[in-house]
Amino acid sequence: MVESRKKVRVRIAPSPTGDPHVGTAYVGLINYVFARQRGGKFVLRIEDTDQLRSRPEYEEAILKSLRWLGLNWDEGPDVGGPYKPYRQSERKEIYQKYAGALLKDDRAYSCFCTPERLNQMRSEQISRKETPGYDGLCRGIGQKEAEKRISSGEPAVVRLRIPRPGETVLSDRIRDEIRFDHSNIDDQVLLKSDGMPTYHLANVVDDHLMEITHVIRAEEWINSTPKHLILYRALGWEPPEFIHLPLLRNRDGSKISKRKNPVSLDYYREMGFLPEAMLNFLGMLGWAMPDEREVFSLEDMIAHFSFERISPAGPVFDLEKLKWLNGNYIRELSDQELLRRIREQVFPEERMNSVVPLVRERLEMLSQYLDVADFFFLGDIRPDLQDLIPKKKDAREAADILGQCQETLESLVSWKTDKIEETLRKLCEEKGYKTRDLFMTLRVAVTGKRATPPLCESMEVVGKAITMARIGRAIAALESAPK
Ligand code: GLU
Repeated sequence: MVESRKKVRVRIAPSPTGDPHVGTAYVGLINYVFARQRGGKFVLRIEDTDQLRSRPEYEEAILKSLRWLGLNWDEGPDVGGPYKPYRQSERKEIYQKYAGALLKDDRAYSCFCTPERLNQMRSEQISRKETPGYDGLCRGIGQKEAEKRISSGEPAVVRLRIPRPGETVLSDRIRDEIRFDHSNIDDQVLLKSDGMPTYHLANVVDDHLMEITHVIRAEEWINSTPKHLILYRALGWEPPEFIHLPLLRNRDGSKISKRKNPVSLDYYREMGFLPEAMLNFLGMLGWAMPDEREVFSLEDMIAHFSFERISPAGPVFDLEKLKWLNGNYIRELSDQELLRRIREQVFPEERMNSVVPLVRERLEMLSQYLDVADFFFLGDIRPDLQDLIPKKKDAREAADILGQCQETLESLVSWKTDKIEETLRKLCEEKGYKTRDLFMTLRVAVTGKRATPPLCESMEVVGKAITMARIGRAIAALESAPK
């Protein structure tokens, strides 16, 4: 492929709708390495158009994890830059302007279909075993009539008019050309009736305005890319080059998910994986050094990286490999540096301060401190299976209780004692669990002990990522318990 002479500008565009994900770090690393190799710019843009699910807490956590890894961006919501603002919720007017231009040129149209109609259409299509998609009822409404209906207060969305018949071809450096027949592409909603853009419109407008030259993103966006290419054409813009990275997989080949592997970057930081080992590991996923060396630094990767060496087959996120690599990196540290990292990572001032008020009641001699407080500092703990099971219940019921805790706690945005407590009590009420049973099972799962400082306070200090991982492991142990 011929390289364009334009200065490389790449970006990652995370949506702040959940805890920082290893996939974001993976895509971030490849973008970062490519930008550094080409002397280009690496941009961080926050895609928070989904107002219901986006949270500033998640944005903060994503930035913190990427910074921990050392993937520093040149432009972004926190550092600013010439194309600011870098948060989509602050760019609403820009998207509205382009939606208006598309309507004017008849490249898009107003759609007045109600959610009820769309739902019914969808279920009918599904029952006929058709791929669900908009049936084009409003495609023929003229601009004048549409304007009249809008000014009389009728809610409308803006849809992209996919040219039919037609075909869009996607060439991607790391995979074969893909042809998309336009009859299979939906007339995508670009602007919602409340004036908020959808991901598709905001993403294309921003990549263009921010002069992004290469969109390097996860494979799961491939099916959106023809819509994006059509949108670039409709706006009269030259599209960037698209490169879709392989999805990370669990050992069994399924898409990486928290049921099989911890996916939160917070977990890896809290467990004491070194950022340099983490980057090395992510770098090995799907890409290999020309000499096949497994241990390499970020600088090595920048020097030798090329897309041609990325294999599109989904690389396995192998935790054992990561541990092995991390061990290697730890052994390379001087004693002094290792001690510094242990202090910083395992015994940070903030954690030490939070633990003392929780354990003081339980001490008769200072030497008991570690006995009482061990679970605040450990990564994995090994609870006794029998202790996890409430009286008159069996392993399956205990696993169910923890499964429910896992689900509700996972969605907690603010990991604070009162929120944790409120959530757990509500769960007991809703599911009819005895508070005593639920709290004991959860206590043992999270601390490994039956007697501990107050549970919710302790969970706050242990942190969400480690707490969730411990609950997950306890469920797995219960599920594989002999019947
Ligand atoms: N906001 C999308 C995400 O969360 C960005 C996809 C893209 O890079 O275009 O992954």
